Formats: sequence, structure tokens, C-alpha cells
Amino acid sequence: MTDIRRDGPANRACDVLIVGGGLAGLTLAAALGGAGVDTILVDRESADARLLDTFDGRTTAVAFGTKRIVEAAGLWAHVPAAATGAILDIRVTDERSPLFLHYDHREVGDEPFGWIVENRTLRRAAFARLAQLQTVAHLAPAEVTDLARTATRVRATLGDGTTVDARLVVGADGRHSTVRRWAGIGTSGWAYAQTAIVCTIDHEYPHHGVALEHFLPPGPFAVLPMAGNRASVVWTERRRDAQAVLAMPEERFLLELRRRAGDWLGRVRTVGPKFAYPLSLLHADAYAADRVALVSEAAHAMHPIAGQGLNVGLRDVAALAEVIVDAHRLGLDPGGADALARYERWRRPDTLMLLAVTDGLNRLFANRIAPLKLARDVGLAVVNRTPPLKRFLMRSAMGTTGDLPRLARGEAL
Ligand SMILES: Cc1cc2nc3c(=O)[nH]c(=O)nc-3n(C[C@H](O)[C@H](O)[C@H](O)COP(=O)(O)OP(=O)(O)OC[C@H]3O[C@@H](n4cnc5c(N)ncnc54)[C@H](O)[C@@H]3O)c2cc1C
Repeated sequence: MTDIRRDGPANRACDVLIVGGGLAGLTLAAALGGAGVDTILVDRESADARLLDTFDGRTTAVAFGTKRIVEAAGLWAHVPAAATGAILDIRVTDERSPLFLHYDHREVGDEPFGWIVENRTLRRAAFARLAQLQTVAHLAPAEVTDLARTATRVRATLGDGTTVDARLVVGADGRHSTVRRWAGIGTSGWAYAQTAIVCTIDHEYPHHGVALEHFLPPGPFAVLPMAGNRASVVWTERRRDAQAVLAMPEERFLLELRRRAGDWLGRVRTVGPKFAYPLSLLHADAYAADRVALVSEAAHAMHPIAGQGLNVGLRDVAALAEVIVDAHRLGLDPGGADALARYERWRRPDTLMLLAVTDGLNRLFANRIAPLKLARDVGLAVVNRTPPLKRFLMRSAMGTTGDLPRLARGEAL
């Protein structure tokens, strides 16, 4: 990776310009750079060591299939095993109902369902991988302030006047995507009246790789096994109550936490600050336009109820990387209409399905109407006792079903 320290505005050219160096943009840059595609990655935030060491409270449930993508893109080799918590069991319960759903990874093989990894660990791994690649230039901190089309390229102008000409611009710039807006791609969606409160806890007893998802009327409450005796808590609250929860003194907060999580972890305390994320759903009307493609949250953002947001985003990354590399090898234009139409056709059905499932689950479980509650509890119990259906759901959550791109099958590009 060339980390460009600019003395003044410059003009540069590349095959692919990625706007946004979140986990999606970083992974795409690593995948493309590893396959020899001349790539420039621009991010608003600086990548200095201090930033990489800051814990932003976010962890990601990296599903088994996503780990294959991250591995094939060359990042996983830089994720220390001791920094990951394997998910071996998933327990789903509904309020105080005695009916429940239990997924055991051994029912579908030897591999864990996934791993809980701090986002900063993944970010660091991405930078370590990019440092090995000469094909990727990284411009940060730098903001794309303007985009313009020429006949065969898109020209991006950065805040300091530098211009970058690319055959394809990828918007990996999150839910308020500048690239999406510039390309004239509209969105639909809504805000949930919910906020996710996220924190890390350390606890007395080992978690044994158990992930707990407890559906409560304000929203799902999840305890996710991190490395060692630590867990990530994603506590969904009604938006109007979230501030009061965040302001609780530690003792009261832990009491409320134990009321929701139970006592199976023994003594518990929070590590580091608590963070609040207002939740919303967003779907772009298109994932591609003339010389533009959108990935991950620039294209879609979903409720974290199933921990699938970045997993779906990295499936976009895997599909787009394959489309670009195939075009590149055949001497075709990676920003051409055919390549982009293939990407759009490939990714939309998977994402639409997950947007519908996560939204539907959130509505279903937040509902207190008695017959509906009975129906969903019976539903949980039925799934629990129907092994083929259960196995199908487990494999879907692991990201090993459907029309998988090469990276998601663990193959090189
Ligand atoms: C509480 C919570 C829990 C979650 N848990 C999970 C989970 O367990 N598993 C999972 O898969 N997903 C999870 N998600 C979702 C996941 O966090 C997101 O899907 C993911 O972080 C999105 O990554 P991204 O790279 O698309 O976007 P972002 O992380 O938003 O990155 C966008 C980047 O673009 C840059 N940028 C923006 N505009 C510009 C510009 N004009 N010029 C230059 N740079 C720009 C920004 O600086 C930023 O670095 C969770 C989400 C929440 C809220």
C-alpha cells in the first residue's frame, strides 16, 4: 500500500476508486489489490495508529462464510486467534416463555457458526494486509467533495484539490453515501423507534461460546461471546428510554443487565464506555449506475437483530470484486454496463431477503398481542424440533447457502 502523504494537489488515475475505508471498503481494496487491480482507497478518517487503537465499542459477528471472504482477501491471517470468540451455541428465547430455540454448531459440522471480533481488530488486520500490496494507494484523511463523468472515466475531486480519474467508483461510504447521492440513486427506508446500546462486559464464569438472543418487548437483547471471559452486549431499547438507560449509575445498569441476561455468567462488570446507535432501515433503489457501484451500508442498512449487516455487506464486496476481476482479466471495462448489471442482479435478491427477514423478526418479536406471541413461541419450538429446517436456518446464518461468490467459497479471485 502506498500511503500518500501529499505535498499539494496532484492528479492520479486508477482502475477502481473506492470511496470509504470502513470495513467494507478496506476489504474490497485488499481483495482487488491482491488480484492486481490498480486501486485507490479514499477515507475521510485518518488511519494513524492512535485511531486504530481506539475501541469504538463495536464488535462484529463474523459468520463462517464471511470469514472465508476475509480470509481469501488476506485479512484473516492478521487477526490473532486469541482476539476472536468462537460462537458454538446460539440460544434464542422470547420474554419469559419456556419455549426456546437452541442451535448447536455440531448439528451442521465441526466449524463454529462464526466469531465475535472487535471492529478495530478487523481494521488493523486490513491495514496490515494493505501494507503488503503495491497495487493499492490509500489517501486518508481525504474527503471526496465532487464527482464528474467524462466519456470513459469518473473524476473525483478531493478536499485539497487532488483529482482521481477511475474507470469505476465504488461507494463504500456508509449510509449517508456521497457517491450514492451524486449518482442520483434514491433510497427507501425508515427509522426504527429503537436505539441499540452497545457495551463490553467481563464476567466471572466462561461463556463456553454461547450467544444469547433474548427477545424483549423493546427489542432484542444479545450477549455475544468475545475472546476470554468477555462478551459484547447489544441491548435494544425504545428510543425514548435509551438515554435513561445510558445515564444509569453502574450498579443499576448491571442490575438491569442481569435481569435481561440472567445469572449464568456470574459477576459482571462493564469494560469501557457504552455507545448508542439509533437504528434504521435503508435500501438504495439501485446498487449501480453509470461507472458507479455501491456496496454495504451505502446500498443497504438493516436492523442488527440477526447480526447480519456487515456480513451481507462483505458478500457485496465478494461479488463486486469477482465481477471487476473477471472484466479486468478479459480486458473488458470494469465500470462497463455489463459488469455492473451482473453485480446488481447478483446482490439484490440476497439483500432484499435479509432486509425483509430482519425487519419482520423485529416487528414480530416486539409485538405483545397474545395470539401472535403464542404463535411465535410455538414457531420457535417447532423449528427447534424440526432438524432439516433447523439445519437450513443454521447454514443460512453461517452464510454458506445461495449463489456464493468465489471469495465466499474460500477460493482465490
Ligand atoms: C449496534 C450494531 C451492531 C452491529 N452488529 C453487527 C454484527 O454483529 N455483524 C454484522 O455483520 N454487522 C453488524 N452491524 C452492522 C455493521 O456495523 C455495519 O454494517 C458496518 O459497519 C458497515 O460498514 P461499511 O464499511 O459499509 O460502512 P461504515 O463503517 O459506515 O464506513 C464508511 C466509511 O466511509 C467514509 N466516508 C464517508 N463519506 C466519505 C467521503 N465523502 N469521502 C471519504 N470517505 C468517506 C467514513 O469515514 C467511513 O470510514 C451492527 C450495527 C450496529 C449499529
